[in-house]
Amino acid sequence: ARVMKRAVAVLEPYLEKEKRAAASAQGRILLATVKGDVHDIGKNIVGVVLGCNNYEVIDLGVMVPVDRIIAEAKARAVDIVGLSGLITPSLSEMVHVAQEMQRAGLEVPLLIGGATTSRMHTAVKIAPFYAPGVIHVLDASRAAGVVGQLINPATRTAAVARVQAEYEQVRRERAGAQERKQLLGLAEARAQAQAVDFVTHRPERPARPGVHRVTPALADLRPLIDWTPFFHTWRLPGRYPGILEDPEVGGEARRLLGEAEALLDRCAADRSLAARGVLGLWPAARDGDDLLLYADETRTALLRRLPFLRQQRRSHGGRPNCSLVDFVAPVGGPADWVGAFVVSVHGAQALATAAETAGDDYAAILAKAVADRLAEASAEWLHREVRRSWWGYAPDEDLDNAALIAEEYRGIRPAPGYPACPEHLAKRWIFALLDAEAAAGAALTENCAMTPAASVAGWYFAHPEARYFGMGRLGRDQVADWAARAGITEDEAARWLAPHLD
Ligand code: SAH
Repeated sequence: ARVMKRAVAVLEPYLEKEKRAAASAQGRILLATVKGDVHDIGKNIVGVVLGCNNYEVIDLGVMVPVDRIIAEAKARAVDIVGLSGLITPSLSEMVHVAQEMQRAGLEVPLLIGGATTSRMHTAVKIAPFYAPGVIHVLDASRAAGVVGQLINPATRTAAVARVQAEYEQVRRERAGAQERKQLLGLAEARAQAQAVDFVTHRPERPARPGVHRVTPALADLRPLIDWTPFFHTWRLPGRYPGILEDPEVGGEARRLLGEAEALLDRCAADRSLAARGVLGLWPAARDGDDLLLYADETRTALLRRLPFLRQQRRSHGGRPNCSLVDFVAPVGGPADWVGAFVVSVHGAQALATAAETAGDDYAAILAKAVADRLAEASAEWLHREVRRSWWGYAPDEDLDNAALIAEEYRGIRPAPGYPACPEHLAKRWIFALLDAEAAAGAALTENCAMTPAASVAGWYFAHPEARYFGMGRLGRDQVADWAARAGITEDEAARWLAPHLD
């Protein structure tokens, strides 16, 4: 992309004359990250790939409401609309956009992309609502091919028809597979809770309870970066550090890493990327599936009561129905503690905007990808600080970065929106408890995406048995129960839990 941009800049004066004779772009594509979501690395890569293939890209940015998408698509007479999003609530927003595009009478194909999107979701939940054609694009490298077929009038109808037939097949197969195992009722699931040991294990009192702000230096974070996902952002397959020696992609991987390291050197000097975080450690207890956080160690006044979810799958072989709250001692048991955190890396958007202004889209994407790595490294760093000193239950822990990435330490930091706690709504509770806006400069969109996008939030559970799991499907009974405990309507609860509804 970088070479292409520079070459075009050199050639442009010579091309100007020809441009007047024939339209330069092959077609016009509108891209947007949907309302409530702020993630745009994938979308920006798609934009660059399409731009290099001589398409005119109109990028509306992030958090784009449906009205604006439709108005711009009409006003600019685009040939294709592409939607992007990362967090699960964006899936529902995409359905909404498809419905509104249909109502507004748009006739151009709709492309769907982003980490939580899938062929299945597109076929089952989005495509039925938009007749002109909805197509899931697996990754940026496929986008140019798909767009080429859709824009060429000679191949377009057949291409749309082929995908529609394929999705019809997906829907039929899924309907056939619908006779899935019935879920357990909520009461039954609760009766199968994991029996976590609080007899031989006695929870440790944190060395420094309460809420604390932290500002890790870049030098603290760099050794804790997990580079493997960085290469995956650029679709370089493999694991770090082995990928650097890979016969096929090793050269490119080394070059990319070199550029990231150079950016980090610059940021260490001028502080253009900086991390801020906040952690809290509170006296806690489990009451049913609620987590109780107490105002102080007398454990008389409640700070907050927070509802957790529980697996309802029917299992063979007596596997328990897990809830994160099971890793906390019950009311009346030994005094226990729970933590939460938010970390944010600030500055990526300013770096990206400067790079874009200078015509270097590649550097803009690199800055955001590096900021994401620093945010994850901040979460890793803070968790280690918590284990070694703030909570201090593992003062002598001494693991290298590979062991940290492999999670060989005691305790977990489950992140709302991830499989063990898929309810993004919990980020609102964590943000309120930590005053994360003031403490870390972080904020939440209406769908609980975090800004800056390079942010991580989560809980701390310290029990040696604490582990990650997947929530799976949830029954109507639990949705209603959770709604009542969360103090929201059942409709709103269903919206937050949409991808998990039975
Ligand atoms: N080293 C990785 C870390 C991110 S993935 C990186 O730099 O990208 C691992 C994190 O994802 C965990 O620390 C936890 O916060 C979250 N996570 C993974 N599986 C989870 C699950 N089942 N439920 C909740 N959170 C999970």
